[in-house]
Amino acid sequence: SAPGTDPLLDGLNPEQRRAVIARGPALLIVAGAGSGKTRVLTHRIAHLIREKEAWPSQILAITFTNKAAAEMRERLGSLLGAGVEGMWVSTFHSACVRILRREAERFGYVSGFTIYDSADSRALLKRIIKELDADTYGFTPANTSAKISKLKNELTDASDYATTMNPSDPRERLFTEIFTSYEQELKRANAFDFDDLIGQTVRLFRAHPDVAAIYQRRFRHILVDEYQDTNHAQYSLIRELTKHVEPEQVATLVPPVRERELDGLGRIPGASLTVVGDSDQSIYAFRGADIRNIVEFERDFSNAEVVKLEQNYRSTQNILSAANAVIGNNFDRQDKKLWTSEGDGEKIVGFTGYSQHDEARFVAEEIEDLHRGGMAYGDIAVFYRTNSQTRALEELLIRSAIPYRVLGGTKFYDRAEIKDAMAYLTTIANPFDPIAWSRMLGAPKRGVGPMAEAHLANFQEAEGVTFHEAMQRAAEIPALGPKIRTTVIDLADMLSRATQMALGGGATDVLPPAANAEGADAASDASDGAAGDADASRKKPAPVADVLKLVLDSTEMIEKLRARRDPQDDARAENLEELVAVAREFDAQQPGAGLLAFLTEVSLVAAADDLDDQSGTVSLMTLHTAKGLEYPAVFITGVEEGLIPHQMSVDELGGINEERRLMYVGITRARERLFITLASTRATFGDIAVAMPSRFLQEIPESLIEWRQSPGEVTGRGGTQSRALNAGRAPGAGGSGSSSGASWSRNRDSQVSFGAAGGSSAAVAEPASGNMQSALDKWRERK
Ligand code: ATP
Ligand code: MG
Repeated sequence: SAPGTDPLLDGLNPEQRRAVIARGPALLIVAGAGSGKTRVLTHRIAHLIREKEAWPSQILAITFTNKAAAEMRERLGSLLGAGVEGMWVSTFHSACVRILRREAERFGYVSGFTIYDSADSRALLKRIIKELDADTYGFTPANTSAKISKLKNELTDASDYATTMNPSDPRERLFTEIFTSYEQELKRANAFDFDDLIGQTVRLFRAHPDVAAIYQRRFRHILVDEYQDTNHAQYSLIRELTKHVEPEQVATLVPPVRERELDGLGRIPGASLTVVGDSDQSIYAFRGADIRNIVEFERDFSNAEVVKLEQNYRSTQNILSAANAVIGNNFDRQDKKLWTSEGDGEKIVGFTGYSQHDEARFVAEEIEDLHRGGMAYGDIAVFYRTNSQTRALEELLIRSAIPYRVLGGTKFYDRAEIKDAMAYLTTIANPFDPIAWSRMLGAPKRGVGPMAEAHLANFQEAEGVTFHEAMQRAAEIPALGPKIRTTVIDLADMLSRATQMALGGGATDVLPPAANAEGADAASDASDGAAGDADASRKKPAPVADVLKLVLDSTEMIEKLRARRDPQDDARAENLEELVAVAREFDAQQPGAGLLAFLTEVSLVAAADDLDDQSGTVSLMTLHTAKGLEYPAVFITGVEEGLIPHQMSVDELGGINEERRLMYVGITRARERLFITLASTRATFGDIAVAMPSRFLQEIPESLIEWRQSPGEVTGRGGTQSRALNAGRAPGAGGSGSSSGASWSRNRDSQVSFGAAGGSSAAVAEPASGNMQSALDKWRERK
């Protein structure tokens, strides 16, 4: 195709084009924000397919969020003018779940396994800690789960840990016990926690080269976006997937390997690997992400071609200059500067509120203004560092009737009534899961107390059967009273009917057959036809919504909530109806995919981000969630010491640098308009804290910011917090909104005066006390 007429290459600059057409075994694209990395990745995939160098099913594209995956799939569809069936465009977690569901039996799991969210993991850990009396040693579900997660991201399991720990340290011995028991309990429950999904897939590949060979053969091109945020486990997964297949494994593959798949040594050569990333946007070190992965890529893949992109196509020069200025303060990086040919654009707008409510009011008013000026609500995003900041914002948005949604934050699936209903579906898919089973038994309340539950659980364990079967055989448990027996057996009957529906098979209490459990894969994955064939004789699984309806109708969960006439319970009933709607939508989108695919989707979406996209609403999200996204107008709120940089990062090695990268990510999301806001006081822990402007704000050249109300104006004039508080309560406390020229140095002064009293990072004042130092100390203690 001649240049000038090729839709896959025309809209690209020469370097981007080079990255699309490069055909070596390894390609590294390093570039700053907004330079077209994701675009190049997408065009590269489309190019491979259009040039018939790969089938869609030979491509594995890894994105950081489900939202990004959906966007990439859509974009590919429009570039290619056709569907991309069989292509895996997904997050690391989703890709691993698909693999694990297929191969679960290989390592003692059943494909209906549950994916434990952090609440489930903690519930399990809480029990273990109690059983081992480990709480007296300071172990909590939160700190043990954090430690276990970190180890798992390093691919260290309990037995690895046992060999490296210091055996003379009783705390380490105890931790090893907790870790070991946690692993055993997960296995017994036929469950994986979130970190397992990746680690277990790596283990599976290492322990079963024949299984690894299936995927090494299948994926000829592996492409990873946001590579800077991969952790060791994810890195290892990529390494496993890109290895070549040895001749002895080649012989095991079905369908038989053809001559042209082999290299001169009788091996299937390793997949080509493309990674794109920006070390300035690495913001997941706390989850084990390792910038070294990108730095060392060239060493690990010695034949890698490297493409550097420099021109930014997203933002105005003013926005880019602010981003450059901030990130330039990180000493641990290669200097690179973002630039655009599009012109300076408008200045960054700054605003300091007297309180977070005043700040939120400003945000709401500016959003209204933008909207009146013709900008769609969907083009506007509001970022914050911590979820707790949303309340003030949401209040004002609701009051101003601005449509909004919270991305990644609202936990529809965390609501009690939703978890109750999901517990039934989980028990149907995985009748070994004690956490789901126990939740199901108690919701709605049916008079089966902890004693009866313990009897059932003991029977289940002693007989080595599923919880479902234990309930069916309740009559064999003498300790259960007759009324409870009837209740339990009735429930088991309902479950049998639901199971039969959900799995489409004839059996009532068997485990989900492996092939059937493939769910979405079997339905959408044309290239793996063999997996579906074994299952052809079985009846199709019923729509998920029907199964859910059966559960809700027979338990009367919705009716019982409605009957209580409490508006809260009405809202809960509506949530359950919403869940049915979610299931219906899923059934429509993935016909025949079935319950397991639904459960997978729910656990991954609930854990990561929001799938549905409503373009008519303002998007609220944390700075972490914002990665990879772009909006014409962006508000970064709460730009204060203690928030960004977050208090927790201040004492951590490299913590400030990571926070600075986070700020950089936030700034570089904006295309045309950037607003940076803060408050001079903020309510924390019920106290009013005096907030200091973030050091990152000071790093932005004054000339780039147009202050509607500068920090100096709010806190600088010898004022105290009491003035600020009063002003904050005054209606429409816009202050001296016209003084856009207010200078930064005034604010500096005010910082010095506060600094003398309260230290450099953040100070807290109790309204009446005035003794800032003691308040600060108190605050630190609580932290
Ligand atoms: P991030 O680091 O934030 O993930 P990125 O490097 O992945 O950014 P993209 O999201 O791919 O950047 O691109 C940023 C914006 O610039 C997008 O709107 C994209 O469509 C546009 N863009 C990229 N390259 C070009 C180009 N050559 N011509 C016009 N627009 C482009
Ligand atoms: Mg990107």
